[in-house]
Amino acid sequence: MEKRRAEIAQLVDDRKDIFIDMSHQIWGFAEPRFQEYKSSELQQKVMEELGFKNTVGLAGEETAFIAEWGSGKPVIAILGEFDALSGLSQEADCDVHTPVAGMDQGHGCGHNILGAASASAAAAVKEYMEKHNLPGTIRYYGCPAEENAGGKAFLVRDGFFDDCDIAICWHPNQFNMVSAGGSLANFRVFYTFHGTSAHAAGAPHLGRSALDAVEIMNVGVNYMREHMISDARVHYAVIDTGGTAPNVVQSRAQVLYAIRAPKVTEVQELKRRIDNIAKGAALITETTVEIKQVSAYSNTISNAVIEKQLGAHLSAFVPVEYTDEEMEYARKFTKVITDLDRKNMPELLKKVLPNKEDFNKWNGAAIYNFVAPTTVLGRGSTDVGDVSWVVPTAQISTATWAPGTAGHSWQATAQAKGPVADKGLVVAAKTMACAAMDFMTDPELVAAARAQWIEDLDGETYPNPLPKGYMPEIW
Ligand SMILES: [Zn+2]
Repeated sequence: MEKRRAEIAQLVDDRKDIFIDMSHQIWGFAEPRFQEYKSSELQQKVMEELGFKNTVGLAGEETAFIAEWGSGKPVIAILGEFDALSGLSQEADCDVHTPVAGMDQGHGCGHNILGAASASAAAAVKEYMEKHNLPGTIRYYGCPAEENAGGKAFLVRDGFFDDCDIAICWHPNQFNMVSAGGSLANFRVFYTFHGTSAHAAGAPHLGRSALDAVEIMNVGVNYMREHMISDARVHYAVIDTGGTAPNVVQSRAQVLYAIRAPKVTEVQELKRRIDNIAKGAALITETTVEIKQVSAYSNTISNAVIEKQLGAHLSAFVPVEYTDEEMEYARKFTKVITDLDRKNMPELLKKVLPNKEDFNKWNGAAIYNFVAPTTVLGRGSTDVGDVSWVVPTAQISTATWAPGTAGHSWQATAQAKGPVADKGLVVAAKTMACAAMDFMTDPELVAAARAQWIEDLDGETYPNPLPKGYMPEIW
């Protein structure tokens, strides 16, 4: 075990420059969902040069691809992402909020590191298998549009994971940890109201306001909050208010809802209620409403068997050696987090490290250079959840930025191609590659993960929450 781990780690180290460069280039491309053309192409090129065979353009997603090497069972999937986020442009390494001129997107969720580390892990697995003449198939899944569109759900729906035995993923974070615990299922739904415009003073009785309908719908949903399960989350953004002229009755208005709950079936039920509220708002205002669901993320079924392997390897690669400059780099970013994030930090750390001595040791550190015990922290959503319904799946996170740095922030964009991110990339790649090899060479371990997965599903099957026939689109 130790020997193999060291050998795989060396394989990752041998090629780390390629993948750190990949991460940095993708950071610079900063392409939004379903438009990750350069990011996808670069990864395809690197994987092809390393001997992988690419299948490009999957499930209606032009930027999705699978890089595969080897043959036969088992089939191990390592998942990558590479989309950027709107409004999070930021100069690299800069601790003052400074958007890059002319650029709106930024890698504020670190998906540039995510894809590169996963590709690096797959490359190391391939090298090891080739060297030791081992059977099996390793795949890197280039998965677009994790943010907002749930790209993986389309890949799952169209069967691209059907023959996989194990799936492994990771995410940039402030903590090194195995990410157990379910993410929330999440639907995105557009509600578009159509009314009749009129002069708001001259003939208001001849107008029917779509904006009124949006406002009434939101009020209705906010009243619904009292009567929904407490773990549910509902939030909205008004996309179109119908214009900027108050003297015109707005004939079109649009609101986008994110509806989340621990289980897909619970989200489906909430959506049914919210649809009814929208229809009620249309009735009240004598407008019409169009309802269009554009994405669906399922909750995650985490897998304790895979997590155990990942956790053992992660503990072997952390703590990481940082230079004084790197510590200084991270420290500078601990100083520019928001006051609320700073206030929340000890509470969060206490959750992760309930032992007082451990807490005191790390509270105020420039980098959380330890492996946190598996803890359920904030509950976001990820389309890795959809994969986990059809393949036993587990995830880790590694420390890629300073403590307190929030995901989806300019502070995260700034650090996502910095030295801490680069080291987090390497730790993630090593950990995932080692765990992948455990499953590649041990059919009993694969069977154990599968048995655990069947037990955890408890008779449920993938609820396939995407609207029937709906294809990925840019919205
Ligand atoms: Zn993310």
